[in-house]
Amino acid sequence: MAKNNEHICSFCHRKKSETSILIAGIDGHICEHCVAQAQTIIDEELTQKSGKFKFGLSKATKPKEIVSFLDQYVIGQNEAKKVLSVAVYNHYKRLNQVNEDDGVEIEKSNIILMGHTGTGKTLLARTIAKFLNVPFSIVDATVFTEAGYVGEDVESILSRLLQVCNFDVAAAQKGIIYIDEIDKISRKSDNPSITRDVSGEGVQQAMLKLLEGSEVMVPPQGGRKHPDQKMVKIDTSNILFICGGAFEGIERIISNRLNTGVIGFNKGVKGQTIDESNMLQYVSPLDLRQFGLIPELIGRLPVISHLNPLDKATLRAILTEPKNSLVKQYKKLMKMEGVTITFPDETLDYIVEKALQYKLGARGLRSICEVIMTDIMYEVPSTPNIKEYVVEKSYAEEKVSKSSLQQLKAA
Ligand code: ADP
Repeated sequence: MAKNNEHICSFCHRKKSETSILIAGIDGHICEHCVAQAQTIIDEELTQKSGKFKFGLSKATKPKEIVSFLDQYVIGQNEAKKVLSVAVYNHYKRLNQVNEDDGVEIEKSNIILMGHTGTGKTLLARTIAKFLNVPFSIVDATVFTEAGYVGEDVESILSRLLQVCNFDVAAAQKGIIYIDEIDKISRKSDNPSITRDVSGEGVQQAMLKLLEGSEVMVPPQGGRKHPDQKMVKIDTSNILFICGGAFEGIERIISNRLNTGVIGFNKGVKGQTIDESNMLQYVSPLDLRQFGLIPELIGRLPVISHLNPLDKATLRAILTEPKNSLVKQYKKLMKMEGVTITFPDETLDYIVEKALQYKLGARGLRSICEVIMTDIMYEVPSTPNIKEYVVEKSYAEEKVSKSSLQQLKAA
C-alpha cells in the first residue's frame, strides 16, 4: 500500500490511480500491465517447452519419409507428393547450409501447384506444414491489390503468418504460406501494354519481393484498419511459398503448344501419345507466361507440379482411407453417442457417383455426406436405445434428391 493508503501493484508499484484494473490477492495486488507481461512470459515458456514451431526436419528425415506421411492424409497425387517433398526437403536443407566459400548458394524452391478445385492442393500444403511443425497460413491472392488501391496490401500475407504463430517472428520466418488462386491475378492479356489492371500485374509485381526473400515491414494486425500499429520487420528468405490455382483454360494453351511444336519445350512429348484428359501434366513455364503470369514471378516459383483430376476409385478411397477420412469422422461422432454407424459399400458408391456428377472434386463428398447425415445426427442423440445405425443407399438417395444439391445437376 502507498503512503497515502492508496493501493499499489506489488510487482511494478504503479498506484491504483495509474492503472485501469488492480486485482487484489491475499497479500498484494497486481495491475493489468503486469498481468499482460506475465502472460507473455508464460506463453514464451510454454512454447519453448512444448517445442511448438520448433522447426522439425531432422537430419534423418528424407523425402521418402515426407511422402509416407503425406500418404496417410492425401490419396493419390503421387507426382505432386514427390515434387513437393523434394522441394521442401531442399528448402530446409538450404536453411541448415553451412556457409562455405565455394560460391554455391542454394536458391529458394517456391512451388506452384496446379489442379482443379477440390483435388487436394491446400490439403497437401497443410499436411506438409503439419509434418514439419512450422507455422502455416493460407491466403487468397484475389483479395490483394496494388498499394494505394482498395483491398489488402500483399504485406498482409505475412501478417497472417505472424498471427498464426503468436507474433513469434523467428518462427514465422521459417513458415510456409499457401497462396491460393494465384491464377486469378494473371495479367488480362499477354500484351503488357494493354492494361494496368488493379488486381493483376501490379499484385504480381508486389509479390515478387516477398517470394524472392527480402526484409519486409509488416503490419502485425494486417490490413489498413489499424494505422497506428508498429510495423514488424520480417525476412522472407526462408519462408516457403506454395502457390495453388486451377488455371482454368490453360489446357488449351498447353495443347496449342504441343500441337504447334513451340521450340524447346515439347521434345519429350512430341511423338508420344498425349493424355488429353489430363493436360496439366505437360505444363511448362511458357504456358504460365501465356496464361498471364509475369516472367519474374514464374522465375521465383521454380518448382511446378500438377494434381490429377480425381477419378471414381480415388474419390472412393478419399471417403474411407485417410487418417481423418469423412467416414472415420462420422463414425467417431456417432461413437461419442454410443452408436455404431456403418456405411454399406453401395451407399459409399452412390456418394462417389454423386460427387463425380456435381464436379466439385473431393469437396463434393463432404457436401453430400452432410446432406445425408444431418438428420441422423439430429435425431440419434435424442433417441434412446439406438446402438447401431446403417446408412442405407435408399436413405441416402432420398436425402440427396430432396436437397438443394440437386440444383447443381442442372448447372
Ligand atoms: P483444393 O485443390 O481446391 O485446394 P482441397 O485441398 O481444399 O482442394 O481439398 C478439399 C477437401 O477435399 C480436403 O479438405 C480433403 O478433405 C479432400 N481431398 C481433396 N483431395 C484429396 C486427396 N487427394 N486425398 C484426400 N482428401 C482429399
